[in-house]
Amino acid sequence: MSRTITFEEFPGTCNLANGYIEKHSTHPPKIALINCAGMCLRGEIARRVANIVNYRLLPEKTVSVCFQGTVAGGCPQEKLIERAEKVVFLDGCTLKCSSRLVRGALDIKADVEVILTDALCDFDKKLFAVTELPDEEIQAQAEKAAAAIASGITS
Ligand code: SF4
Repeated sequence: MSRTITFEEFPGTCNLANGYIEKHSTHPPKIALINCAGMCLRGEIARRVANIVNYRLLPEKTVSVCFQGTVAGGCPQEKLIERAEKVVFLDGCTLKCSSRLVRGALDIKADVEVILTDALCDFDKKLFAVTELPDEEIQAQAEKAAAAIASGITS
């Protein structure tokens, strides 16, 4: 199935995001990390994993890109994707929302890797809501997945 989506044009821009894009437009380019941000446990873990990898484990090598902002427009997040040699999507589940949306919106020339963070977690897979697992266990799952991803995406 495919859909055509029409967006209301954003009348301005986000100067904070513009500064972030400029700051992280390094030479050589950083790996663009794009995560889904679903409301469920798997989306929450994917978001935490991306933040751990980007801000703590590989801050010099990766830059997080907001997939919603990339698709909706308003500030040129896609610049970080277009200049990257590698783009890594961290999707929480097999629906792969971030990778399907961004790859539908952009013709990505870089090497693309799609990682399902749920496959790196070992909690009870019948759970769905973020309230169904203690916060410290969510964080522990995210830390474990992030460590595995950080050691894999730069090799
Ligand atoms: S990939 Fe799964 S967890 Fe992530 S936003 Fe989509 S449905 Fe939610």
